[in-house]
Amino acid sequence: MNDALERLAEDIASRREELVELTRELVRIPTTNPPGDCYRECAETIGRRLAARGFAIEYVRGLGAPGDSDRYPRINVIARHEGAMRGRCVHFNGHIDVVEAGRGWSVDPFAAVVRDGRIYGRGTCDMKGGLAAAIVATEALIDSGLPLPGAIEISGTVDEESGGYGGVAYLAERGWFSPERVQHVIIPEPLNVDRICIGHRGVWWAEVETLGRIAHGSMPFLGDSAIRHMGALLERVEHELLPRLAARQTMMPVVPAAARQSTLNINSVHGGQPEGHDGLPSPCVADSCRVVLDRRFLVEETLGEVKGEVRELLERLVAERPGFGYTLRDLFEVLPTMADPAGPVVQATAAAIRAVLGREPQIVCSPGTYDQKHIDRIGRLKDCIAYGPGILDLAHQPDEYVGIDDLVTSAQVMARAAHALLHLGP
Ligand SMILES: [Zn+2]
Repeated sequence: MNDALERLAEDIASRREELVELTRELVRIPTTNPPGDCYRECAETIGRRLAARGFAIEYVRGLGAPGDSDRYPRINVIARHEGAMRGRCVHFNGHIDVVEAGRGWSVDPFAAVVRDGRIYGRGTCDMKGGLAAAIVATEALIDSGLPLPGAIEISGTVDEESGGYGGVAYLAERGWFSPERVQHVIIPEPLNVDRICIGHRGVWWAEVETLGRIAHGSMPFLGDSAIRHMGALLERVEHELLPRLAARQTMMPVVPAAARQSTLNINSVHGGQPEGHDGLPSPCVADSCRVVLDRRFLVEETLGEVKGEVRELLERLVAERPGFGYTLRDLFEVLPTMADPAGPVVQATAAAIRAVLGREPQIVCSPGTYDQKHIDRIGRLKDCIAYGPGILDLAHQPDEYVGIDDLVTSAQVMARAAHALLHLGP
């Protein structure tokens, strides 16, 4: 068996150029989100390739999902390869959307330039390189002639960068991700070739509005400034809440280690007269001021506690500060997710990393969320990880790249992990 797995690794190494060209082909399709450009073209590129290798292909449009329209249809592709015998299903899921290129590039972000052992371009690292590696890994595994019970699936899904509602969430709601069809999921997000990401912190976004009373700006004592009330809130956030959150450490192995605690980002502040018009403002006391809070929380905290802590701060201001009034509105929430480190997909991938790289893998959690949230909560699939080539810090940056050696290595790891999972028995 070990000889056969060695040969599989060698075969993947011999497909290096093919893996590079597939990555480049996907990167040259500018699937920028928003608005969700070229999704059909990208999904069909994947579908055509896998159909030619015996996969059954389904295209599922996220009809009615945010951003879906005839101009920008949310087209997902799911490819399934049935083995000779019944068994488990191992699923590789990659998002096909990329964020805008932005400024500061030294190369064309959609030309997929190869230089110094790297492929440069938007989406090389996050995460078309990972998706290409999963495709080539799976093709090599099927071509190896090794007996393969069960099924292998590969999906290319949309809108991960904008919440995944037209992609993985849509598919999970319709049973594509469910324990009846799929047992193990690997998401080849760029976590680096020796790291296994088992989950992420939770998220709560909320908008707080402080209220005041409008009056002439030359006589502010006749009004009540919502901006000053907001200042009082922000002062308490700064001096009470943030230190308390920083002291709350987690057992989750979040990387970078500075994110191994609760955090709060003040996403935006808007108050008083709107910006962006020509001419001078008119003299008014602001009767409304709004902030958007981006709170990231830990498995050790409940969402109720997270919300209650902010509400308690606001209620104390109501009691202590004359005229203080507020509204608090939930915008978005995701619970923390963490796969069992002793579960099959972590163990199989860890063993594959040891075999291919000869070193011990690092088990980590992500500071931000990704599509695992939907696979876990909606799809009820707990045995899910992110594992793939590329350096997370490069995601969304100018001159994003993926190392070609890492592409090959991660494909070897994925093939070996999938092989082990398929042989776990029914
Ligand atoms: Zn990504």
